[in-house]
Amino acid sequence: MAETNGNTSLHSLPGHLYVVATPIGNLADITERAKLMLQQVDIIACEDTRTTGALLSRLGLSHHTLVAYHEHNELQAAENLVAQLTSGKSVAVVSDAGTPGLSDPGFRLVRACRKRMLPVIPVPGPCALTVVLCASGLPTNGFLFAGFLPPKSSARLAFFNKYRDFDYTLALYESCHRISKAIDEINRELGASRVVCVAREVTKLHEVFIVGPVADVQARLGKSSLKGEFVLLVAPASFAL
Ligand code: SAM
Repeated sequence: MAETNGNTSLHSLPGHLYVVATPIGNLADITERAKLMLQQVDIIACEDTRTTGALLSRLGLSHHTLVAYHEHNELQAAENLVAQLTSGKSVAVVSDAGTPGLSDPGFRLVRACRKRMLPVIPVPGPCALTVVLCASGLPTNGFLFAGFLPPKSSARLAFFNKYRDFDYTLALYESCHRISKAIDEINRELGASRVVCVAREVTKLHEVFIVGPVADVQARLGKSSLKGEFVLLVAPASFAL
C-alpha cells in the first residue's frame, strides 16, 4: 500500500515529484502554480529537452537541469530520477504538451515513486482529452479514454465492434494521417447517425470543432484541412444532439 500526504504549498519541496501539465497550444493556459514549480524544482524531466527549453524561455523561466525522459528511455530514466528524489532533489515531470502520463511518458515514474512512498504532487492544467470532452456537447456523465487507436485496420475494427453498445462516450487521440480513416470506419461500423466530435488544433489559432452525425462530419471533413492535432469522441448509440 502507498499512502503519502498531499502538499499544495507554492514552494517545491525536497524529494517530491511534481506532475506538471503544460499548454496544448495556447501559452496563456499555463497555470501560476505550474510556473512556480517549474521555476523552483531542481530537475525537470521532459520528453524533449529542446521543446521544454523553448517553453521555459517563452514563459520567461530560466532553468536549470533538464533531463530527457521519453518512451525510449522511460524505465532507466525513471530509476535515475527516483535516485535523485531519494537523495532529496525535487523533480517536475512534463511532457511536450498537456498532461504527463496520458498517451505520454509519466506513468512509470509515478508508479516507481508510489512504490517507494515518495510524494507525488499533481499540478493540474490542460489535457486535450478533457478540454474537448467538456466543450463537445457529447455526454460527460461517463467516458472511456482509449488513447490512440491502433494503426492496424483489423485491431481498429475490433475496437469499434467491442464498444458498439458502450453506454458512455469514447474518447480517442488520433493522428492527422488517420483521422479520415477513423471517421470512415465509424460510419461503416457504427452507422451514419452515430454522433461524433472531431476537434482539431484546440486552443490554437485554427481551432475547429465539428460535431454531429458521423456521415455529416465525414462530408465536412472532406473539405477541411487535415493538418494538426485531433481528438475524436464517439457518443453512445442512443445519443442525439
Ligand atoms: N498528454 C497530452 C494531453 O493530455 O493533452 C496528450 C499527448 S498525445 C502524445 C498527443 C495527442 O493529443 C495528439 O496527437 C492529439 O490527438 C491530442 N492533442 C494534443 N494537443 C491537441 C490540440 N491542441 N488539439 C487537438 N488534439 C490535441
